[in-house]
This record gives sequence, structure tokens and C-alpha cells, in this order.
Amino acid sequence: MKQLEINNSEEKITIGKVVCVGRNYAAHAKEMGNEVPDFPIIFLKTATCIIPSCGEVIHPEYSSDLHHEIELVLVIGNEVKNATEEEAGSAIIGYAVGLDMTLRDLQNESRRNREPWTLAKVFDTSGVISPVTLKSEYNLEGNEKIFLNVNKEVKQKSSLDKMLFNAVSIVQFISKRMTLEKGDIIFTGTPEGVGRVISGDKLAGGIENIGKVEAVIV
Ligand code: MG
Repeated sequence: MKQLEINNSEEKITIGKVVCVGRNYAAHAKEMGNEVPDFPIIFLKTATCIIPSCGEVIHPEYSSDLHHEIELVLVIGNEVKNATEEEAGSAIIGYAVGLDMTLRDLQNESRRNREPWTLAKVFDTSGVISPVTLKSEYNLEGNEKIFLNVNKEVKQKSSLDKMLFNAVSIVQFISKRMTLEKGDIIFTGTPEGVGRVISGDKLAGGIENIGKVEAVIV
């Protein structure tokens, strides 16, 4: 069972579903050669993929194009289905910083073949997550800066107000398609600047007032 640490708390959060949003920044959709979507693009990872910050991301030998994606992660605190805007907002109990590690070669191949992305997104250690900052400690304003450095060089740099769908609207949208439960987490998409990493690379990213995430590729 995978759990998330909470800043300034001894308690932990047991991870349920891991729901992810694709193409949530226009500049990232463009760099991938994709249209800006009318609705959030949703896919899943598994809880078994997730490791805590400062862990090792194991590069699968069946891919030669492992990419970093830095993302805001939402943590759900109660069951919510068909949420109103207000219910969606109050279902979010905290925030974290996540790395949605992606096998871009497998993803591109599955796109070409019109097959699911699952194996491009789901492999052990493909999700790295910082400790959670509870909303009671910091309430997201929606314009916080987000960044990722690889070997101390800035690769991704943006702000959360560039998200096409904000945190509340994402929760509301997902809750109309599947029940969200306590412990479910949501990766909200990555800004532009994604790129390949190789064994030995050190990743360090963060979101202003939320936290930091680090990982090394092995
Ligand atoms: Mg992503």
C-alpha cells in the first residue's frame, strides 16, 4: 500500500486512484504537435507506480525516450460524485508536486496505432510525489510558479495560471465520469519544456508555496 507524507503532520494519506490530465497547458500541447483540447484529457496511473520525493526513477530497458513532466498534484479528501463547483473545491484537501514520468517513444507509438497510452505512463517509479501541503496550511491561489531543473539546468518554467483547466474544474469534470474517493490523487498536466532524461540525471522541481520534488534516474 502506497502512502503520501504530509508536511507538518505525522499522519499519512493512503493513495487510491491516480487520475491524470493530459495537455493542460497550451504551450505543451503545441510542443507535442497537438490541438488544445475542449475537455480535459484523462488517463490513469496506478498507486504502485508512485514513489516519494528523493527516490530513484528506474529507466525501463524497453524505452529509449524517458521524459520528465512536472505537475501540480491534487489530493482528494472525501468521496465526491457529480460535484458542484463548491463540492469540487472542498473535496481538495491538499496539494503536492509530482513528476509524471513518461515513455515518450511508447506514447507516440500507441498514438500512431490508436492504442491506449497505458504502458507509456504506467511503470514502477513513474510517479514521484512530494509531501502533501494541506489546504488548511496553504490555499492555492492558482498563479503559483512551477519549475523543473535537470542537473541544475532549468528545463520547465511556467505558472499555474497557464493551466487550461484549473484545479476545481478538473475535479468537477472527473467526478462526473467516476466517483472520486478519499486518497485519490490527480496529476493536473505539465507545462512546456518536457524532455529526455538518462541514467544519472538529477531532477529537482517545485511549485511556489507548495513544495519540492527530487529524483535521480537510474
Ligand atoms: Mg503528464
